[in-house]
Amino acid sequence: MGTISASVGQGGANRHVDVITVQTLINRNIGRLTPLRLIKVDGRCGEHTILAIKEFQTRILGMPKADGRVDPGGRTLAKLSENESKAFRVYYSHAVSDDHLHAVLLRAAQVLRADVRVTSGDRDKALKVGGKNRSLHLQHRAADFHMTSLTDAMVFRNLQTHGQDIFFPGIAYELIHHGPYTETMGEHVHLGHYPVGRLTGVHCKEEGLTEAGKGHYPTVRVINITG
Ligand SMILES: [Zn+2]
Repeated sequence: MGTISASVGQGGANRHVDVITVQTLINRNIGRLTPLRLIKVDGRCGEHTILAIKEFQTRILGMPKADGRVDPGGRTLAKLSENESKAFRVYYSHAVSDDHLHAVLLRAAQVLRADVRVTSGDRDKALKVGGKNRSLHLQHRAADFHMTSLTDAMVFRNLQTHGQDIFFPGIAYELIHHGPYTETMGEHVHLGHYPVGRLTGVHCKEEGLTEAGKGHYPTVRVINITG
């Protein structure tokens, strides 16, 4: 990985195996290319692959005129391969019993290419904040977390943008951005997994982004996961 025999992209030789290498590398960097979605790894260099190469060159390499081509030994390939061997993972400082949440948090780490740091999980007693007795934490179905090198606002947004690649269809989730004015212990992202029987999809809520929003949990959007 990280080695190609000939150029890939616009006007490139586009050998099948080289295109697969570049497509795989792009997908590993897709969290840096929001709102682009994962591209199909099919060894064919089509418009999505070329667009993704150009976006990467413009945004990550800062190239004023992206040529949409990856050359052997070139700068684009080197940058795409950066941290290639790094396996992003989830660090738990608190127990989270829900296996499904483990799977989703790991996918979030891999797709957004950043470690997940869980700061709270299972709870047996409600926090001393108003009306939270139905918290999914009490059912051992929620985790609070941050992601390395991303702000909580970016995590909240990127999880939605890449939702189709992170969440599973047929399951209902609660995703909350607790902002700087939160009624909870401090700004963080919350992900819960509702029991079967709820409407499916990712129910995105914002709490405490402003002083007036403290303690209110409006649903700002629901993302339907199609798989
Ligand atoms: Zn929480």
